[in-house]
Amino acid sequence: MTKLDDALKLAVAAKEAELVQLCQDLIQIPTLNPPGLKYFEICEFLAARLRDKGFVVDLIRAEGAPADSDQYPRWNMVARREGTRTGDCVHFNSHHDVVEVGHGWTTDPFGGALKDGRVYGRGACDMKGGLASSVIAAEAFLETCPDFAGAIEISATADEESGGYGGVAYLAERGYFDPDRVQHVIIPEPLNKDRICLGHRGVWWAEIETKGRIAHGSMPFLGDSAIRHMGAVLEEMERYLYPLLASKHTDMPVVPEGAKQSTLNINSIHGGEAEQGEDYTGLPAPCVADRCRIIIDRRFLIEEDIDQVKAEITSMLERVKAERPKFEYELRDLFEVHPTMTDENAPVVRTVQAAIEKVLSRQAEFVVSPGTYDQKHIDRIGRLKNCIAYGPGILDLAHQPDEWVGVQDMVDAAQVMALTLAELLA
Ligand SMILES: [Zn+2]
Repeated sequence: MTKLDDALKLAVAAKEAELVQLCQDLIQIPTLNPPGLKYFEICEFLAARLRDKGFVVDLIRAEGAPADSDQYPRWNMVARREGTRTGDCVHFNSHHDVVEVGHGWTTDPFGGALKDGRVYGRGACDMKGGLASSVIAAEAFLETCPDFAGAIEISATADEESGGYGGVAYLAERGYFDPDRVQHVIIPEPLNKDRICLGHRGVWWAEIETKGRIAHGSMPFLGDSAIRHMGAVLEEMERYLYPLLASKHTDMPVVPEGAKQSTLNINSIHGGEAEQGEDYTGLPAPCVADRCRIIIDRRFLIEEDIDQVKAEITSMLERVKAERPKFEYELRDLFEVHPTMTDENAPVVRTVQAAIEKVLSRQAEFVVSPGTYDQKHIDRIGRLKNCIAYGPGILDLAHQPDEWVGVQDMVDAAQVMALTLAELLA
């Protein structure tokens, strides 16, 4: 620990009440996605605070992005504070949107109640606690170290929970994450205060449709059931595909343990007549199903190639076809994201690792996320490789009822962030 490190730790600790207040203020702006509520309000709230601290603020609406409309505009905020000398830029990127509330809450999801050292509310851990920590870290750093090199950026971006296309992707396409503008990116997602998340697995979503022929349900032999064809597909998955996926292991440090292999979820299945609304009181009609659809969610490893991932499904469908004379199918691509993993020796990784050891007196753990987050856009569109996720909060609490973030965790993570700024910019 240097003298500066000690001063920064004290400066952050002295702001504990302010950090709690900021986290509560952010929770009290209900930025629900969907539909995308109060995005402008939260951006403007942060902009006002950061302008006071000498940041230059851009408010950017992602016009034309998916879900952007005059009723629900996709607003983003990027704040930049220049140092007194040239140097690197450190960027903290948080998404400001939160997912739906759901059932089972015992506290007001938008109240931000403080109880027994925890702040409660939707988005407390994912990720308004992390956003608040990064703001307080930057403010403590600026007060302690006004003469610094380079620049600090803080962004609050839209729609991470629905893919980030009206948020980080939109900004990355407009140069906000170009390596000549930003050199280090920290995303304060709730990965626990002693863990550094290097990246994530890949995703491929697709729809498989089997075809049949409609007929009267009392004479199914006159038709051809698309549901029975899909049954054969599911059987082939159980017999061949799941064992194959379970045999593929990654060297990426993915958590939890079960996600260290390739996985496949069937998100939905639908066959035959459309389901009626709950208010419909009649009986269904007797028909042979002429189509059946499933949506698959395949998560793949950095060692796998996406073409090979797709070819596995195609060859499985072709095997079913070879065994069933009337089998016809369609396979439609819906969405894909490539896996990404930052090198353990990248400067931002090494710096945050050292800061964790100084603040928490324990070794940092490297992890990789089973699902994707905005790092995908910073990597693929921004072409910036020096990026990690690091922030307070327990990942398992994200999207749950009675979501909370620990006050001490926020303080510790803010100290780690402040020490990181000092190492990279002071
Ligand atoms: Zn999140």
